[in-house]
Amino acid sequence: MNAIRPIRTPGELVETCLVAPEDAPAIQAVAERYAIAISPAMAALIDRNDPNDPIARQFVPDPSELTVMPEERADPIGDLAHSPVEGIVHRYPDRVLLKAVHVCPVYCRFCFRREMVGPQGLGTLSPEAMDQAFAYIAGHPEIWEVILTGGDPLVLSPRRLAEIMERLSTIDHVKIVRFHTRVPVVEPERVNDALIAALKASGKTAYVALHANHPRELTPEARAACARLVDAGIVMISQSVLLKGINDDPDTLAALMRAFVETRVKPYYLHHPDLAPGTSHFRLSIEEGQALVAGLRGRISGLCQPTYILDIPGGYGKAVIGPNAIRESDGCTTVSDFKGGEHVYPPSE
Ligand code: SF4
Repeated sequence: MNAIRPIRTPGELVETCLVAPEDAPAIQAVAERYAIAISPAMAALIDRNDPNDPIARQFVPDPSELTVMPEERADPIGDLAHSPVEGIVHRYPDRVLLKAVHVCPVYCRFCFRREMVGPQGLGTLSPEAMDQAFAYIAGHPEIWEVILTGGDPLVLSPRRLAEIMERLSTIDHVKIVRFHTRVPVVEPERVNDALIAALKASGKTAYVALHANHPRELTPEARAACARLVDAGIVMISQSVLLKGINDDPDTLAALMRAFVETRVKPYYLHHPDLAPGTSHFRLSIEEGQALVAGLRGRISGLCQPTYILDIPGGYGKAVIGPNAIRESDGCTTVSDFKGGEHVYPPSE
């Protein structure tokens, strides 16, 4: 039942007992629209007896993906509106995304770039496009940070990654290189000495933002992969998506954030799900998200608190949307504590 290579087709989903044979035609219709990949590590984590298994729900296609809501859009966070040259997104003054590759080791069913990644996606940047992207970074001295994303940049070979890092090393104004990836969780065996050397080859300060959404993803193998990165001097932060039926309960969220901290990964962003096509079954309301995030205060250490954010549709950037602890009324400021108690600030006596 366990796969030794990634599961990529409806037939392989049936063979590995992740889809019932009678459901294969409906899954085939999804496969014709969106990429499928489930790594062996993730396939092994799935409980076939649980119809709502939170790992399966992230990676096994669902016919609901073909239901597109009017508010959904192909480019939900507006990458294209801020792309001055192919492969670069320059939304904020001091940082750019460098999207070198649009391939991933797994394809998440809620992916915000699902129209761009996968075999029918935007592929890998050509050498000419890569030259233009580096010329853009070199020509903009305000760029302090380069964020490699995609797709998952850690699917590139160490040799390709090192080439990219060596080019970045020649651009003095770039001080930070950040990699957004799922690899330490979904393909932990890929995090070896050669990959780590490539991540550090720019000589810049390197950050790895690990994408994981459920505490079960932090397996012993994933934790060991993160330890190899952190021990090599790479700073790790987390990003997760708040997903209905996967992590939208206080116990799961608390366990996820604690698992990150135990793994030396500082919780960073908890994303409200984006308006990607065919993902409405994963979305909850912002009010529901705020209530969950408010519940984390006091329940778990300050080290474990993520920032709840929304990428404003249309490319307007991120907004912090966490619960507001402060209320102003009649010239008076009231602050809520973690139990919901209210306190006037400054106190009158
Ligand atoms: S790894 Fe990231 S880019 Fe790739 S499918 Fe998942 S969410 Fe999308």
